[in-house]
Amino acid sequence: MKKTILSGMRPTGKLHVGHLVGALENWVMLQNEYNNYHLIADYHALTTNPDTAGLYANSLDMVIDWVAAGIDPVKSPIFRQSRMKEHAELHLLFSMLITTARLERNPTLKEQVRDLNLDSLVYGHLGYPVLQSADILLYKGDIVPVGEDQVPHIEITREIARRFNNLYGTVFPEPEPKLTKFARLVGLDGNQKMSKSIGNTIELSDPPEAIQAKMRTAVTDPQKVRRNDPGHPDVCVVFSYHQRFNTAEVSDIRAGCETGALGCVDCKKNCSMKIADVLLPIREKRLGLEAHMGDVEDILADGEKRARIVARHTMDEVHTAMKLG
Ligand code: SF4
Repeated sequence: MKKTILSGMRPTGKLHVGHLVGALENWVMLQNEYNNYHLIADYHALTTNPDTAGLYANSLDMVIDWVAAGIDPVKSPIFRQSRMKEHAELHLLFSMLITTARLERNPTLKEQVRDLNLDSLVYGHLGYPVLQSADILLYKGDIVPVGEDQVPHIEITREIARRFNNLYGTVFPEPEPKLTKFARLVGLDGNQKMSKSIGNTIELSDPPEAIQAKMRTAVTDPQKVRRNDPGHPDVCVVFSYHQRFNTAEVSDIRAGCETGALGCVDCKKNCSMKIADVLLPIREKRLGLEAHMGDVEDILADGEKRARIVARHTMDEVHTAMKLG
């Protein structure tokens, strides 16, 4: 029997190449091997921003990006968290099984507080790993594809599953993290994180001209001032993109940069073209989907219908085990 994977993202805006290499390519690869559920985590988006104005439009846009990148919604249901009340109920029940002290120790939370410069936390933000546990365990996820920074959350999910099973009888598996192979892409500005909120991204929907314009702003080796100056590619953002999107030429580019034979202007143009080539099929598919928004809404409705059957079944098991209702 195939194992089950739950993966999701917050619908906070258009996806970028960091999402592609850090998650989407991996999800596409895994969809033949596992039962996948793809969650549009719109409740999670509210933990850091309660404004719901763009949430639905962003959710539809995320469906477009996912499908354009190769997620097959027939194989893997795509659905919105807020359409599935079972997520909220299981979150509530799980919140009785973990202490606030345990959640306060979550290192990812500490990072977020620092990165977002928060001077206080809403209750839902502290508890978002508990909601994430409900997201995963509602579908009895065995595997969760994550980056290193998310591993502590999977440990919380395992602890909650174990506590529930010990108290009420075995209902849930203890899911394992599956680390994505490729590390994060750095942002155009050299920030370790490519992020829309920082404004240092190349979006999946960017046309070649936009990619080229953004690439002009990318941080290079500060010691390579003139075209013929020898450079240090390992400190250059553009070179890190060549390593990911232009593997065939990467050793020539290193040699050209180090000897001064290659200038940054040409190097950036070349890198922009290679990224545009990789994104071309995604962009074309995106345009096709954008022209048929009714189909995109149908993908969500179908995904919600299929996911709801599983979610309700799990909640029936939970009610029976807990002798509720
Ligand atoms: S030549 Fe290319 S790799 Fe070298 S510093 Fe300039 S942009 Fe970076």
